[in-house]
Amino acid sequence: MNVVLFGPPGAGKGTQAKELTKKYGIPHISTGDILRANVRDATELGKEAKGYMDRGELVPDTVLIGLIRNRLNEADCVDGYLLDGYPRTIPQADALDGILREIGKPLEVVINIDVSDDNLVERLSGRRTCPNCGESYHIVFNPPEKQGICNVCGSQLYQRDDDREEVIRQRLTVYNQKTKPLIDYYGKAGILVNIDGSGNVDEVFQTVSGVMDKY
Ligand code: ADP
Ligand code: ADP
Ligand code: ZN
Repeated sequence: MNVVLFGPPGAGKGTQAKELTKKYGIPHISTGDILRANVRDATELGKEAKGYMDRGELVPDTVLIGLIRNRLNEADCVDGYLLDGYPRTIPQADALDGILREIGKPLEVVINIDVSDDNLVERLSGRRTCPNCGESYHIVFNPPEKQGICNVCGSQLYQRDDDREEVIRQRLTVYNQKTKPLIDYYGKAGILVNIDGSGNVDEVFQTVSGVMDKY
């Protein structure tokens, strides 16, 4: 199954992907998680990416294209992949197309999770993230069992620097300018499925699974 989970920041891509990867047995590839792990470990990639991420801007396409090419060539992608947070620009989508042609695993479906801007701001400002495993929680909508502690790995949760109000607004602006045009791009390619992301986590999971089950 070769899938892109698409949508604005805060739509619930990461939350859904963590469950979908268990259900369908394909790897969850989150470029945001990969970049944050590199920032945490102060790698060359992390040092290059950090400034862009803190400002709510996109990391340059060349960097992301190299990163995703390497990741998709790893052995666990033989039976498919679930991309989250990539592509975010038209050049990234064009490059992805080329890479997938090279490796013979064309994209089957792009699932666009649709959520209103007000909901996105509410979701992002209450998000708490696990620095170790990347799991995300919400202080009201999806709280961890023990306050401030990751259910999965027991690490202390934190609030991402880019989940502050000013940076959230900037990320939504960048989404509208650079990423949203991909809805039309994949619509024209005939592989886009729009779903309503306004329900709770379980409701959205049922809807997304209903789409995935067809592939
Ligand atoms: P969210 O899921 O909240 O939208 P991500 O974790 O996907 O955020 O991404 C966090 C940040 O990492 C982005 O704001 C951007 O700076 C960088 N980033 C992640 N994926 C990409 C990408 N495909 N292209 C450019 N920058 C990216
Ligand atoms: P994305 O990866 O698209 O940026 P996340 O999966 O990290 O989004 O979700 C953003 C925030 O919204 C998190 O705090 C998460 O717990 C919360 N969230 C996710 N799905 C829902 C939902 N269906 N209803 C309410 N809150 C949600
Ligand atoms: Zn964790």
